[in-house]
Parts: sequence; C-alpha cells; structure tokens
Amino acid sequence: MKKVYGVIGDPIGHSMSPVMHNDLFEHNEIDATYLAFHVKKGNLEAAVTGLKALGVSGFNVTVPHKTDIIPLLDDIDPLAKAIGAVNTVVNTNGKLIGFNTDGRGFVRALLNKGLSLTEQKVLVIGAGGAARAIYFSLAEAGVKEIDICNRTVEKALSLKEACPFSVETKVSSISEAEKTIVDYDLLIQTTSIGMSPQVDDTPIRFKALKTDCFASDIIYNPLETKFLKEAKFIGASIQNGVDMFVNQGALAFEIWTSIFPDTNRMTENVLKQLGGSSC
Ligand code: NAP
Repeated sequence: MKKVYGVIGDPIGHSMSPVMHNDLFEHNEIDATYLAFHVKKGNLEAAVTGLKALGVSGFNVTVPHKTDIIPLLDDIDPLAKAIGAVNTVVNTNGKLIGFNTDGRGFVRALLNKGLSLTEQKVLVIGAGGAARAIYFSLAEAGVKEIDICNRTVEKALSLKEACPFSVETKVSSISEAEKTIVDYDLLIQTTSIGMSPQVDDTPIRFKALKTDCFASDIIYNPLETKFLKEAKFIGASIQNGVDMFVNQGALAFEIWTSIFPDTNRMTENVLKQLGGSSC
C-alpha cells in the first residue's frame, strides 16, 4: 500500500517540502506520497489524532506547531526535547516519535562546506526557535565557544541557561557584539531580518571581519540577504539558508526511510522552486 507522509503548518501553501520529498520518493523508487496539510493552531490535536488514526507514516511540523505538538507525541528524541521543538515525526508501529532535524541539518550544512567546527569561535545572531536548535546542535557537535547576541538579551540568556551541552557562551546585545565582531570565525544570522520583502534590512553592522570569516544566513528568500552581501563584500565566504533547509529535509527523509538522500539533487530542486542559484 502506498505510504503517506506530509507537513502540517499554517501557512503551508508555499512549502517547498512536498516537491522536494515527492521527487526523492520517486527517485528512490519508494511507493509513497508527501502532502501539505493546512492545520490551524486550534486544530492541532485533532489533526495529530487523525494522522495517527489514518496510519500516516511520518510528517514534518512547521510554524506554529513545533512546540505545541510535543505533548501530543508518544516519545521524543532527547535533542528535540532539550530544544523544545519538533520538526519531524515518524510513525513507528502506531507510536508517534518526534525529532528536531533543523539544528543537526544546519551542522551538516556547515560540515559540507569543509569547516572544522570544533576550532570555530562562533557568533549566533538571534535567539528565536531556529537559533535555539542551531546553538544546541553546534554545542552537541563539540563547538567550544558560541556567543549569542539578540535584540532581547534576556531571550539569549535563557538559551544559554537551557543548553544541556558544555559550551562557553557570552551573551550580549547586538550593538555590543558589533564592537567585537572581528574576533569571530563563524557568524550565523538566525533572525528574520532581511527576509523578503524587507530585503534592505540587516540585523548587525560591521566594517571589518576576521580574515577567512565564514558568514551563514539561514534565510533562503532572498538567496543573498543584505547581511550576506555585506559579509561577501568584505571578503567572507558565505552560505544561505538553502543548505540548512535541504539538510533538515534529508535527515527527516533518513528517519522515515533509512536512506540518506542525494542532497545535491535536493538543492537543485529547491533552487528551481526559489528561482535562483546557491552560494
Ligand atoms: P523566531 O523564533 O520568531 O525568532 C525571531 C528572531 O528574530 C529573534 O531573535 C528576534 O529577536 C529576531 N527579530 C525579529 N524581528 C526583529 C527586529 N525587528 N529587530 C531585531 N531582531 C528581530 O523565528 P525562527 O523560527 O527562529 O526563524 C527565524 C528565521 O529563520 C526566519 O527567517 C525563518 O524563515 C528562518 N528559518 C530558516 C530555516 C531553514 O531551514 N533555512 C529553518 C527555520 C527558520 P527577539 O528575540 O528580540 O524578538
């Protein structure tokens, strides 16, 4: 019988996941389909009960359900539990088990660029849900020094306090971080600033960066944010959010099928949907 997978969220109409995963199922000769389900906040519990009753094999979870879904699951992976958010669910013999592949996907994306993570002095800009997944996953991967700056400093402090892994972290405001930005090997932009249509905005200002600095922005629309353009102009190597998106999807596909898919193929597919080329 054909297996069914999907993604639940609100809004969901522009999700690139159905095209990406359906292509992977076809390419890997798996008899399965992946659908987008528009689930409003108040309908989450009914939707999860329904997905379970229908025997759906697995699904992704996106905004606004990543945290609210946790009490509705039968089990949760320890990293997802620490992060407090689930983006991937697998149905194993009728039990729904939650994972978070966002942060580990981001880590994979960095490793694919040849970065030796343990040697990096990292600055995470932002302290929202994506920053939390990335910060915990980098710490899990053994990065020793990860500072965080955010508009709301208290949110960055609570991220630091909640981290279950050993890591050295200084928390600051964005303006304080601007003064020491030249010290960092790796800058990770995780705020929503610079996202289309506010493409002329950037969260942090700098006139100089460390030689060989690597700047990563998890936004993928536009493919090159103002933050990335400015970092590139100064000489940094850059990476946009397509790599994180593709790798979180690849890890979800692996959880569902035990096959780690071809991420180059996935990237081409996503870029086709976005209408551009990656950096
Ligand atoms: P979130 O939880 O709402 O966090 C938003 C972050 O942006 C917070 O740090 C917030 O600061 C900051 N921010 C928002 N507006 C700001 C402003 N006007 N000035 C200064 N800071 C501001 O969102 P999220 O889920 O982490 O997502 C953040 C971005 O990552 C989005 O653009 C999303 O599309 C992208 N994303 C990409 C991927 C991928 O696969 N590539 C995956 C997940 C998310 P405060 O704490 O001060 O409010």
